Amino acid sequence: MLLAFLTQMPKGGDLHNHLSGAIYAESYLRWAADDGLCIATATLSIVGGTCDAAAGRPPATSAFQNSVLFNQLVDAMSMRHWDPSLNGHDHFFATFGKMGPASARTGDMLAEVAARAAAEQGSYLELMQTTDGGVGGARGVAAGWDPDLAKLRDKLLAGGFRDAVVSASRTRLDQAEARERELLKCAATQPDPGCRVTIRYIYQVARAGAPASVFGQILAGFEIASADPRVVSLNLVQPEDDPAAVREFPLQMSMLDYLHKQYPAVKITLHAGELTAGLVPPETLRFHIRESVRTGHALRIGHGVDVMFEDDPIALLEEMAAKKVLVEIALTSNDVILGIKGSRHPLRMYLKYGVPVALVTDDAGVSRSTMTQEYRKAVEEQGVDYRTLKRMARDSIDYSFADVPTKARLRTELDTAFAAFEGRPSPQASSLKSRAVR
Ligand SMILES: [Zn+2]
Repeated sequence: MLLAFLTQMPKGGDLHNHLSGAIYAESYLRWAADDGLCIATATLSIVGGTCDAAAGRPPATSAFQNSVLFNQLVDAMSMRHWDPSLNGHDHFFATFGKMGPASARTGDMLAEVAARAAAEQGSYLELMQTTDGGVGGARGVAAGWDPDLAKLRDKLLAGGFRDAVVSASRTRLDQAEARERELLKCAATQPDPGCRVTIRYIYQVARAGAPASVFGQILAGFEIASADPRVVSLNLVQPEDDPAAVREFPLQMSMLDYLHKQYPAVKITLHAGELTAGLVPPETLRFHIRESVRTGHALRIGHGVDVMFEDDPIALLEEMAAKKVLVEIALTSNDVILGIKGSRHPLRMYLKYGVPVALVTDDAGVSRSTMTQEYRKAVEEQGVDYRTLKRMARDSIDYSFADVPTKARLRTELDTAFAAFEGRPSPQASSLKSRAVR
């Protein structure tokens, strides 16, 4: 009954969703077969080139004739059947190297996530993606590193950086969205409900790279978000415990601090505190969330799992509540990657101190979850009640980075959906009725 109830409950937005991790392995394998790609059996990955079964590179079509291989691939490309006593962190992040050229099907991927969101009463997605296909990072590397960030930015911009990243991003998104609309039959008389889901993008920066690459990507994120209204923010991705990510954390925060001053209108959300005791030395647990808010200018925090290990955690919680910094809560992801769940998860601390929170899927395809499952976990494992769940759904729209009119429309739609779900007359209907009575 809980599952049936939560499936139908309006959910608003998913604010933390890595597009490549949102796709189920079965889809990647189907696309690989359709595109004539191969399987590297040694690594259980999708690869391009000439297939050769004798050399351990059978065509991807063979996975659909060999159920043993198919099941091995799905397990390797996701957390399905994963033994929770083993190292979920490494297995999780390794899956992203196995999708290969099949993950270039951005339009197909958009169609999958939009249709799925609509089917579970979601109305809005902010999808993390390298929207320029890597142009910003490559240009950063080509320009070389200079610790004088103003000089480095000037050098990049003088070389046509802005046009290169903005047009690459625009072209890719135009093509992907056209393909999505075609697949969902959005122009037909009976379009897929996924056509009604509003999608925005967050430019993702690979934080484990060298400083020149990271700076190029962060600059690209700011430039693209300033030019294309579909790209609403930027975020640093990849494991926060990666040695380069740990070492360069202060430098990356100073890059964000400097560029935020150049582009104050661009909103920032950051993975921070996706760490736990033992994963990294205790010193690393003490400041990532606070510094991401203060120096990185993050308006939202992804995960925030290690908040109680930060220096003066109660003051930090109060600061986040006062600044209205929303935490994107990823219960399944935190369980399978970090082994953090139940009473070890800080969700109840955030709620207790009035920090806004919203449930997110993170990588629903890899972790074999759905937004409904995240809601279910919130109820069953965190004891969250209906009123609080509803607040989270509302906050997922109120704290989204959509423009003001879009946000107002999404909020009205959500209120109407809740009225229908709760069996009340919709807000518009009741105001019309009261006007008629008057
Ligand atoms: Zn994430």
